[in-house]
Amino acid sequence: MSVNQHTHAGPPYGQPQPGYQGYQQPAYGGQPLPGVPHAQYGAYNGPMPGYQQPVPPQGYFPSLGFPSKGSPVSLNSDTSLAPNFIGSVRALPTSGAPPPASGTSLPSGHQGYSQFGQGDVQNGIPTSTAPMQRPPASQPFLPGSAPAPVSQPSTFQQYGPPPSSVQQLSNHMAGMTIGSTSISAPPPAGLGYGPPTSVPPVSGSFSATGSGLYTPYTASQGPPPPSVPQGLPLAQPPFSGQPVPTQRLPTEVPGFAPPLSSAGIGPSSYPPSTGAPRLPPMPGPPLSGQTVAGPPMSQPNHVSSPPPPSTLSGPHPGPPMSGLHGPPPPTHPPQPGYQMQQNGSFGQVRGPQPNYGGAYPGTPNYGSQPGPPPPKRLDPDSIPSPIQVIEDDRSNRGSEPFVTGVRGQVPPLVTTNFLVKDQGNASPRYIRCTSYNIPCTSDMAKQSQVPLAAVIKPLATLPPEETLPYLVDHGESGPVRCNRCKAYMCPFMQFIEGGRRFQCCFCSCVTEVPAHYFQHLDHTGKRVDFYDRPELSLGSYEFLATVDYCKNNKFPSPPAFIFMIDVSYNAVKSGLVRLICEELKSILDYLPREGNMEESAIRVGFVTYNKVLHFYNVKSSLAQPQMMVVSDVADMFVPLLDGFLVNVNESRTVIASLLDQIPEMFADTRETETVFGPVIQAGLEALKAAECAGKLFIFHTSLPIAEAPGKLKNRDDKKLINTDKEKTLFQPQTSFYNNLAKDCVAQGCCVDLFLFPNQYLDVATLGVVTYQTGGSIYKYAYFQLETDQDRFLNDLRRDVQKEVGFDAVMRVRTSTGIRATDFFGAFYMSNTTDVEMAGLDCDKTITVEFKHDDKLSEDSGALLQCALLYTSCAGQRRLRIHNLSLNCCTQLADLYRNCETDTLINYLAKYAYRGVLNSPVKAVRDSLINQCAQILACYRKNCASPSSAGQLILPECMKLLPVYLNCVLKSDVLQPGPEVTTDDRAYIRQLVTSMDVAETNVFFYPRLLPLTKADVDSDSLPAAIRNSEERLSKGDIYLLENGLNIFVWVGVNVQQGLIQNLFGVSSFSQISNTLSTLPVLENPFSKKVRSIIDMLHLQRSRYMKLIIVKQEDKLEMLFKHFLVEDKSLTGGASYVDFLCHMHKEIRQLLS
Ligand SMILES: [Zn+2]
Repeated sequence: MSVNQHTHAGPPYGQPQPGYQGYQQPAYGGQPLPGVPHAQYGAYNGPMPGYQQPVPPQGYFPSLGFPSKGSPVSLNSDTSLAPNFIGSVRALPTSGAPPPASGTSLPSGHQGYSQFGQGDVQNGIPTSTAPMQRPPASQPFLPGSAPAPVSQPSTFQQYGPPPSSVQQLSNHMAGMTIGSTSISAPPPAGLGYGPPTSVPPVSGSFSATGSGLYTPYTASQGPPPPSVPQGLPLAQPPFSGQPVPTQRLPTEVPGFAPPLSSAGIGPSSYPPSTGAPRLPPMPGPPLSGQTVAGPPMSQPNHVSSPPPPSTLSGPHPGPPMSGLHGPPPPTHPPQPGYQMQQNGSFGQVRGPQPNYGGAYPGTPNYGSQPGPPPPKRLDPDSIPSPIQVIEDDRSNRGSEPFVTGVRGQVPPLVTTNFLVKDQGNASPRYIRCTSYNIPCTSDMAKQSQVPLAAVIKPLATLPPEETLPYLVDHGESGPVRCNRCKAYMCPFMQFIEGGRRFQCCFCSCVTEVPAHYFQHLDHTGKRVDFYDRPELSLGSYEFLATVDYCKNNKFPSPPAFIFMIDVSYNAVKSGLVRLICEELKSILDYLPREGNMEESAIRVGFVTYNKVLHFYNVKSSLAQPQMMVVSDVADMFVPLLDGFLVNVNESRTVIASLLDQIPEMFADTRETETVFGPVIQAGLEALKAAECAGKLFIFHTSLPIAEAPGKLKNRDDKKLINTDKEKTLFQPQTSFYNNLAKDCVAQGCCVDLFLFPNQYLDVATLGVVTYQTGGSIYKYAYFQLETDQDRFLNDLRRDVQKEVGFDAVMRVRTSTGIRATDFFGAFYMSNTTDVEMAGLDCDKTITVEFKHDDKLSEDSGALLQCALLYTSCAGQRRLRIHNLSLNCCTQLADLYRNCETDTLINYLAKYAYRGVLNSPVKAVRDSLINQCAQILACYRKNCASPSSAGQLILPECMKLLPVYLNCVLKSDVLQPGPEVTTDDRAYIRQLVTSMDVAETNVFFYPRLLPLTKADVDSDSLPAAIRNSEERLSKGDIYLLENGLNIFVWVGVNVQQGLIQNLFGVSSFSQISNTLSTLPVLENPFSKKVRSIIDMLHLQRSRYMKLIIVKQEDKLEMLFKHFLVEDKSLTGGASYVDFLCHMHKEIRQLLS
């Protein structure tokens, strides 16, 4: 064991930092805090300012004032102290440690590429650099580091007409009449939906009701869907002259047939539990150019391959009379043949889709030949349309700011672009609730089955027009809190006794007002400084934390970022290592900064690894970086302290040299095995040694099979799908990573994972530490430089730059009567109340469920206070507080009137995705369906007027619950297709768990835009259309996005001119489906489409993969998977069928 013999000249880190005294800020109020621009955490001198000057869009723009690279830090002249000269020596780490640089002359005591044994602590060269500079104590958030706004830029907003009815909420119930007259009267037969007598369904009852399925709109029904540009005249409601109501009414689905025995969505429409043929595993890494068969198919949520031929033309499954609860067809899955998709149904008369067949056991002859027309179906235009709901909300609520001063106010939908004005409640960008009016009693809540949950995004990015939370500094005394429950001062605290005490709005305890905080009350009992203090007048604000809020009663050091690069064979060969190193050279100039700081306070370090780990000393005084190898991975340690974590500007040249040399050093590696556990351990140990929090960026390619702690085996087994053991696929295969995660959280070591697998690498296990530390996972299966590098680099840039808090603890307090009982998200909990996250970034969401523990009162309502304690990117300890007041009700109707389905779906998806860890997937699906049926049945029973049992009546605010729920049920986690890998499912499961409401909304119900309808002269997006194949026209081009992918679908009959303009080729057949970007062409259509894509990228937290799909091409299978209103090839029900099924479930509950 060779040892670097330099002695360590004292602890380089952890000394008290001189600048920490800077925390003693002057008391809040009046004087601007040093170094704080007024626009952000400026002194709070009055009422809420109006909207601020817009800040330039965020992004990776050098023009945003990031520190320029400047001149390199001059090298320390003591170059003789650079013994481990890497220089031109190329290491050949073939099977173990890189060989010693034997040819390099080494000055005293230093050895190149030393290999250290256990316990050999390597100290770098003693440093003489100045102590770390403390940043100004109080800084605004860095505008430049904040990512793109969540909502659409206003330039793309399609503002509709002003709301026609502002009292829509209050009037909601008033119009809850039943359009009974139209229900029982079947319309004339033969409304253009094909021959009325065609193929009567097997069940007579279905037939009878089937003729009523096209019952026209009733007065109480929602307005007709948006005009579908494709022009489907026969789908127009026959009674289109009916007045369109403007009030929000409960939705009735007209003529909704009692789905008796043939309604068809029973189990038969779900995949049979056994026997579904599964495709063989995907082939290995494709050769270049084979993208069709390779990479795209492995992406999550993609359907990539047609079902096996055996399903194409087999006899239609199922006995003719199989009832809804009959067993699924024993052998044949109800999958329609792939070829059935090519029946030219695009743009056809709306009618039954042949692939609905699986739901109709009696329908004969599904094969490659179109059979007789299937039975008539419920008109899709007569059932609630997500597009219509989204459009209505945009036009009604998008034009005015959402002012948060009113308790229990339901915000606009996440798909509506609106501004928020904080007047005492947290913005919906921070907190959204399943309901803003919660039942007073536990019994009511149980009866309704509506989960009471809040989706909280504590560090959400705000659009530039909105004001970031103000930073309040109470000096040494810290924030004012309730003596008993420790709630923080907020607008709902009641001052009494002339202002000398306040009564807690959460626990009612009376607390003395500290002398320094005393203020007189006005005649209304309000403090006269009400408007001067954010914590008295705003829903969201921050407190500067005192040392009492810090670990070990010591202010934290600025965090560190450690980049840890897999340099095994696959990583090197794919060009990944070179790409990462090149990118790091520039990205290091964009580390998060606070406010107007000249440079980031974050220090950086570098590690490479395969079976062993290589640490690098990049101290500024070195002429060349030094490598130190740790081959004993069984007990990881960090071989150097000084010189490992450095300031980017100071060590710029050494870092650049290192990043140049890494790809060369490992260029000829033959090492294919990797370790993984020791990599995280190494990063953790480095942060421990530096006594700081931080983030590890790990770039990893393979299942870690090398001998080391956390070694894994390939235990993938898709035969487990649909068995009781399926849950094991989502569980980690060892507890090693759970234990490691716990240690990481304790240190504030957040782990972000970039995965580049060519085969199974067990995301469920590798992701454990990432998940529990609040980190992010990115996955690029079959990574290929030319097609995937843009996506990866954009993700990396954003991930490095985005706002993040470290060492975070979140607690949600509630007023008496309810309490937080359950939590969903990427975090760790060591008790039942505190959500701990080593890192929490601006994209991460925590969903919290509440349960009653007492009665609530309508008068006082219910309050939530979310307090997040965290360390900022400059090392400042802060508390971010969000408050929200909700109404309480004694009438169930009030609950249903104030629900938010998008948030409900967010909660239900997370609940279900956690459920698969412990329960069979089928049980999870059934329980979701059951809960939603109970929710809707309760409404029907208690809130809706009496009406025909054949009528499906949905609460207005929940009319999309069935369609969205069906999307969750059909998702890859709960109902995977044969091509979805185990890793894909684990990955999606983890992603969804941290998604906010906007992300789950578009993920489960993708956005589908007809590009050929876009107005090239306007900034607006074309109107979205519903996700169904029958909405597509062969002559158009469409874009579909779900937050992870963007598909551009090209119909076979698209005009040649459009193809030329968009793809630069002269015919449909010449369009390449391997493009990962659209060509840059100078014509209005190309510009428009590219600008739409750019805009969509800005809205999403991950860079979406672009996939070109030609109609009738193989890749179209991928695309169709996202047409979520249709029956899916893997057995997922169509929207229409699912609605029938829900109706039946509801009727059963009511009978
Ligand atoms: Zn209290």
